[in-house]
Amino acid sequence: MSASSQQNVRVRFAPSPTGYLHVGGARTVLFNWLLARQAGGKLVLRIEDTDQNRHVEDSVSKILDDLRWLGMTWDEGPEAGGDFGPYFQSQRLEIYNRYAQKLLEAGKAYYALETPEELAAMREASRTRTGGFRYPRPSPLPTIEQGLAALKAGRPAVVRFMMPGRDIVVRDDILGEVTMPADQLEDFVIVKSDGYPTYHFACVIDDALMEITHVLRGQEHLMNTPRHVALQEAMAFPTPRYAHLPVIFNMDGTKMSKRDKEKALREGRVPPEIEVHDFRASGYLPEALINFLALLGWSAGDDRERYTLEELVEAFRVERIGRTNAKFDREKLLAFNTQWGQTLPAERLGAALRDYAEVNGSPMAEADDALLARIGEACRGFRTLRDVENKVAFLFDADEAIEFDPKAVKKVLEKNEGEGYRVLEALLPELEALGDWSAASVERFMEEVCRKRDVQLGKVAQPVRVAVTGTTISPSIHDTLALLGRERTLKRLRRCIAERQTI
Ligand code: GLU
Repeated sequence: MSASSQQNVRVRFAPSPTGYLHVGGARTVLFNWLLARQAGGKLVLRIEDTDQNRHVEDSVSKILDDLRWLGMTWDEGPEAGGDFGPYFQSQRLEIYNRYAQKLLEAGKAYYALETPEELAAMREASRTRTGGFRYPRPSPLPTIEQGLAALKAGRPAVVRFMMPGRDIVVRDDILGEVTMPADQLEDFVIVKSDGYPTYHFACVIDDALMEITHVLRGQEHLMNTPRHVALQEAMAFPTPRYAHLPVIFNMDGTKMSKRDKEKALREGRVPPEIEVHDFRASGYLPEALINFLALLGWSAGDDRERYTLEELVEAFRVERIGRTNAKFDREKLLAFNTQWGQTLPAERLGAALRDYAEVNGSPMAEADDALLARIGEACRGFRTLRDVENKVAFLFDADEAIEFDPKAVKKVLEKNEGEGYRVLEALLPELEALGDWSAASVERFMEEVCRKRDVQLGKVAQPVRVAVTGTTISPSIHDTLALLGRERTLKRLRRCIAERQTI
């Protein structure tokens, strides 16, 4: 699949609004986005919302929001508009009905009138049959009139597509030719009793009417593709180029799924991140997640692992997508996050922290942009933004409300008959006299203090840290004090000294 040699590349991402965007979906949209950008083509975002039972309120806006967070944009679709709309399948029912009528009239589809109980009984009866249940085409077929009469009377009547009865070959740009034998294909439902199309039917019609040229989607859809090809033939639609992406597995070889979260909760473990929103809320940077997702099944063929989105546009090739399962290595993702945190500009880290804080309802959201950028800079080396949040939580507590960790107080302040307190008492007037409160100036001050007293930095820094943060963990001491500011630092130091008896 060489997108660059192709005119008018049109690809699509077609999520069903059944919840948050899964990481597998994120990789699918990324690969489609890259293909579109490379070819100067268009990415269509289509919402596949015809399954009323699986619809989850608000999921469209959540999916769009997480796509934007990842840096994914779409040329047509919700909010963007476009000439091929509507882009919500639930608004295209007349179109699907028109095609269903045509297929019925051409004898390429028929009404099937079994009740769910009858179907269940048929399934049960074929339980011992090898290959499982395959819907047997009724003979004679119910007529269109019988189908309409059943619907009118409130009885079930679905429309089934008549499979052509021969093997179907799918040409896949990653997997090569995949043949589905005729005896594994049944006459499947294209319109349900409620008048809504099934996924297969709506997807094929929309891919054709939206003039989609390339379909990149997960390998879990591979078994659907022969049906799609058969439908395309029956409706005289062109077949787009297909490429099915490797399935994403956990490191233990199980398939990565939403259910992993429920299982972990049941077992009293911290649930793993599965959906994009989970990673966002846990404090991953979109740059790191995108970089990581790009390598789930794709590589440029060398050792290079680090890519920005722009660099991926250059380097990405569908031909280099692998066939074998992709392993979701969380340690590697964490390492990517740390690396990206070390190199992104401070302003960008600040913006990422704001998003993190807003998503989590963290008090860090109160900070202005400049402070957030300084926090990001001071905490480089973090694994996730959650680490950053924990490390600077002291900034967002009221000065008189910081809680002292008893262990820290004991070890750092009280030990050796209050050695730490004596350091604080000696330091307070010197700090009060310090004119410039920038990080660089505080750093020089601390160095000077250590030199004069001939002690290691920790001897001075730790008591100060415990006094102003209540804990032994915070950014470097000069960043800690600079971020907190002169007044708040001095206030906390005085309070710690004054309350010595009561802590
Ligand atoms: N709505 C389908 C899904 O979310 C789209 C599959 C496809 O890309 O054809 O899995």
